[in-house]
Amino acid sequence: MTLPPGSTIGIVGGGQLGRMLAMAAAQLGYKCHIYAPDEAPPAAEVAARFTRGAWQDEAALADFGRSVDVATYEFENIAAGPLAALAAEVPLHPPRRALELSQDRAGEKRFAAELGGRPPPFATVDDEAGLQAALATVGIPSILKTRRFGYDGKGQARIASRSEAERAWAEVGRAPSILEAFVAFDAEFSILLCRGADGDIVTWPAPCNVHRGGILARSSVPAEPPLGAAIAEGEKLALKVAESLDYVGVLAVEFFAVGGKAWFNEMAPRVHNSGHWTIEGALTSQFENHVRAIAGLPLGATGLTAPRVEMVNLIGGDSQQWREILADRTAHLHLYGKDEARPGRKMGHVTRLSPLPGREG
Ligand code: AMP
Repeated sequence: MTLPPGSTIGIVGGGQLGRMLAMAAAQLGYKCHIYAPDEAPPAAEVAARFTRGAWQDEAALADFGRSVDVATYEFENIAAGPLAALAAEVPLHPPRRALELSQDRAGEKRFAAELGGRPPPFATVDDEAGLQAALATVGIPSILKTRRFGYDGKGQARIASRSEAERAWAEVGRAPSILEAFVAFDAEFSILLCRGADGDIVTWPAPCNVHRGGILARSSVPAEPPLGAAIAEGEKLALKVAESLDYVGVLAVEFFAVGGKAWFNEMAPRVHNSGHWTIEGALTSQFENHVRAIAGLPLGATGLTAPRVEMVNLIGGDSQQWREILADRTAHLHLYGKDEARPGRKMGHVTRLSPLPGREG
């Protein structure tokens, strides 16, 4: 099914990902309707319509579904039940199964392993005794991560010695978790792909990602040549994930590169922070291709528009530097319209394109 321009795309979630999706959708002539619980979410500012509703409100989500022609999501922590209420009314992309898998750290790692991927050694932990048992099999150093509702380093605690187990268990709120071996990686990278409704798949050049305190700080492309083998392996797995789920839309899979091999970290069934550079740095952005995919349109090319592209997140007070950032002519500033610059909050990002040779002016 191809959605004609003028149709309405429903986006569950109102953050910056929804905001950038709505801007890309508007360019293609679509209207967006945002569903989120917040009073004035960043995406609502740039969308045709906004409904304020709770994530658990099945009736409101069903109403929302009836008001749009296709639906997608930019927020991952919505429960299966309410999402089913939405999917009963309108086509929903990416598929619910992808969302359900990504919501459980243990499930997504098992799924990746079944497809031939290589997650770090891990064990599930349901109580303190389970943590002791997991420490015996997984070893130290390791990281305790809640199975659900973790993001940007939240719900994680590192364990460097057995004496830290109790503190770590308290830190993750004694919630069902996994204990995962600490990976001494050479680098982190992500595979970003988009699969169209017709099964066509495009991948962007893989960004190399640097995290600070569990939060993405910087993504740069192209990745350094020594990462080539790991990236090729990661891409193979990401393509398998997309095919096996009959996926439609943008999929991001995050990896650790270790000695030319790709270790699976996690997947996100949505547009991803490590793909924000594609707005200016690729021939077609992740946001535009996601919209094209869910609207049943052909996908756009994904090559680089500059020899090097770097995206830096503006976190907390960093966003106050907007004037200095724009003093650099190669910088593209994106601010998400959030009013309160809390520490650790993603307020915007800046993408810098290195000029083509001979075009430095
Ligand atoms: P996550 O939310 O699982 O993606 O974790 C956020 C960040 O924490 C990752 O991007 C890594 O920088 C770091 N991290 C997570 N798990 C591990 C691990 N097993 N070994 C080393 N670093 C990790």
